[in-house]
Amino acid sequence: MRYPSHLLKLIQAFRKLPGVGNKSAERFAFHLMNWDRGTLSEMAELIKRIPDEIHSCAECGCFTDKESCQFCHPERLTTGVLCVIASPRDAYAIEETREFKGIYQVLGGLLSPLDGIGPDLLAIPSLLRRIQTFNVREVVIALDSTLEGDTTALYIKRELDSLSVITSRLAFGLPMGSSLDYVDGGTLARAFAGRGKF
Ligand SMILES: [Zn+2]
Repeated sequence: MRYPSHLLKLIQAFRKLPGVGNKSAERFAFHLMNWDRGTLSEMAELIKRIPDEIHSCAECGCFTDKESCQFCHPERLTTGVLCVIASPRDAYAIEETREFKGIYQVLGGLLSPLDGIGPDLLAIPSLLRRIQTFNVREVVIALDSTLEGDTTALYIKRELDSLSVITSRLAFGLPMGSSLDYVDGGTLARAFAGRGKF
């Protein structure tokens, strides 16, 4: 039994989304069959208008719908602290903590030689330029605790070696509310190495 070809195309389109496999894609596509024409148009229009409504800030790479982004506010430009993140979404997660008042630099990904992502594809030149422009004293590296995240963090640290900036990286440790019994060895080892004064 074959699906109608447009339905098949829809399923394939949904499969492009992160974390969506065949089964989920089918579920989404079949669900849309229940929507009326108006709701479908609204959704289609929202997706179609993305490039007109949202763009990357020319300075930091975060998303914005204005000329200059909210994170590049003049008050933040003078703090001397810059946080390196992989994707624009990370900025919103860090803002939620209310711990950071500096500026961001979106790298646009993580180094991954296997996937052909080298330093030339990341916003390293922009990072170096903005460190000079805004007299940055500290660079906080807020990247994933994965092989790619570690590789990228190390690369950036080496790039910044010749500049007079302090490089710091987010501490890795125990998840809130966790019991030591349930924490994996790698996490515990990192939490131990990065222990803080109590
Ligand atoms: Zn910006």
